[in-house]
Parts: sequence; structure tokens; C-alpha cells
Amino acid sequence: MKPPSFDYYAPRTVEETVSLLVEHRGEAKILAGGQSLMPLLNMRLARPGVIIDVNKVAGLDQIQEADGELIIGAMVRQRAVERSELVQRLHPLLHAATLCIAHPQIRNRGTVGGSLAHSDPAAEYPAVAVALDAELRLVGPNGDRSVKAGDFFTTYLTTALEPDELLTEVRLPSRPERSGWSFLEVSRRHGDFALTGAAVTVTLDGGGRCSAARIVLFGVAPTPVRAREAEQLLIGEAPEERLFEQAGQRASDAIDEPLSDVHAPAQYRKHVAQVLTRRALTEAVGRARGAD
Ligand code: FAD
Repeated sequence: MKPPSFDYYAPRTVEETVSLLVEHRGEAKILAGGQSLMPLLNMRLARPGVIIDVNKVAGLDQIQEADGELIIGAMVRQRAVERSELVQRLHPLLHAATLCIAHPQIRNRGTVGGSLAHSDPAAEYPAVAVALDAELRLVGPNGDRSVKAGDFFTTYLTTALEPDELLTEVRLPSRPERSGWSFLEVSRRHGDFALTGAAVTVTLDGGGRCSAARIVLFGVAPTPVRAREAEQLLIGEAPEERLFEQAGQRASDAIDEPLSDVHAPAQYRKHVAQVLTRRALTEAVGRARGAD
């Protein structure tokens, strides 16, 4: 199918992009990798009058380390994340999640910023961003602002981005010592969107007790679900299997309005969320103890 007609712009700078967004406020769409937007256009589920292609905008395609933080430009391709030695070293959870996104052909084009801005409930990156406490930089006509990933995903396919704002970079704080991670998902075939997934981080104190934990589920609700009660259960405790079992149940209970569709009913997703949380905690704690 062919998309409806639109005006096309290919700006070279962030400033130019924002000016175009302001000029065409509400009727313009950013084109990044096109892996979600183009199908929507071709199926005529989206009909923007203006497309602003940011593939030629300078400075958005770098992966860098600064003061322990990992900084990833919005136009960094998912394939570049997969191949980055820096990402593997600083945030192996992000690397593991990237391998679960679709197939190499799609990762060659799909971008980090595009996935976050699109905010598909079953996408890996939104959950990873919440689990790693990412900060997103948004640039608009009044300058830039930072939004925590936990506040960025507002509802189904919707984020805190204003129509005249561009997502330019993602910042991931450094991993604490004695921390471990796990990324697990269930999908029908490798590369399919996840039916349910879990991104987990755990930090242990000097005595081996849990001092911090993040449990984030995806594919289960319109936005990533942070299972705070399950996290609280672990704090101050010596982590062990019985606790992981209870945390799994609490995490599943945290899904208030589970998604239910032709791919999987709500009860199935809740059950898988419980099992994945337990397994992910076991794996993350094992890594934190230096088993990795
Ligand atoms: P685009 O499609 O170009 O844009 C997506 C949306 O984000 C648009 O609304 C656009 O305006 C907006 N946008 C993009 N960049 C910015 C920005 N910098 N600032 C503001 N708004 C912006 N994804 C997964 O996570 N997991 C999967 O398993 C998976 N499987 C897939 C399978 C297939 C067959 C296909 C076609 C896609 C799949 N995807 C999957 C989606 C893929 O990861 C996309 O690359 C991603 O969702 C969107 O990134 P993009 O760069 O292609 O963005």
C-alpha cells in the first residue's frame, strides 16, 4: 500500500528540526528509522501532513561515555547498540535486550529514539530505560528538558513528548558495584514482539543483603510496569528463592489492567510475569554475587 501524500523536509540540525516542528505543530511526524512509522503510513493508520526526516541531522548518532554515564544519541541504530563494546561493558542488560528486538534487517534501520518515542507496550527499550533509570533529553522551542524514563511513558503509544519536541539523547547512569541484571522475555518466535518480558536490576550491600532493586515488566500493560511492592519486599533482605517467589507474585499483582488480545489472554500474561520475575531475580542476584 502507498502512504497518503505529505510534505517532506530533511533538516540538518536540531534547531532546524524544532523550527519545523513548531511551524507544523500537530501535523508533523519525525521520521527516524521508519520501522514503525512507515507501516503506519502505508496502512494509513497515520496521516501526518508533514514528515520531518531526521536522518541527516548531525550529532544524534553517537554512543559515548562521560563521567561513568552512557550517553546514546536518539538516532543511534539498534544494530550499533548491539555491536557496541561500550554498551556491552557498561550496560550488558541493554545489549541483551537489543538482541531480542526483531531481526537484523530491522535493527539496521530502527533507532533507540524511535523505539522510545513510539512506546509500543511490547517493545524492549522502554522497559530497559525504566529499569536502568534513564534520563531522556527533549529539545523544544524553549530549550531542552530532561525527563526520567519512569515519567516519560504516559499511556498506550503516548509519551511526555510535546508535538514540537525532539528526543535527542538518552543517558544511563553508571551501574553500582555489586549489582546484577537480567532481561527475560517470552515471545512466540525469536524476534517477535514479546508477549511478556521482565527487566530486572539488583544491588547487594557488603553483607550480601539487597540494597536496591528494580523490576520492570513489559508487554503486559499500555506502558512498562514498575513492580514497586515486589521491589520493596527485597530491600534489606538476604535474597533467596522463597523471596523471589513472593516477589514474582507481587509483581504479577501489580499489573492492574493486563493486556488481553489475540496473541495472549490477560491471565497468561500475568502468570508469565510472575514466572519471569522469579527467574530474573535469581539470575540478577547470581550476577550481583559475581557469578557472571
Ligand atoms: P520510526 O518508525 O521512524 O518512528 C516511530 C515513532 O517515533 C514516530 O511516531 C516518530 O515520529 C517518532 N520518533 C522517532 N524518533 C523520534 C525522535 N528522536 N523524537 C521524537 N519522536 C520521534 N520493536 C521492538 O522493540 N521489539 C520488537 O520485537 C520489534 N519487532 C519488529 C518487527 C517488525 C517486523 C518491525 C517492522 C518492527 C519491529 N519493531 C520492534 C519496531 C522497531 O524496533 C522500530 O525500529 C522502532 O519501534 C521505531 O524506531 P524507528 O527508528 O524505526 O522509528
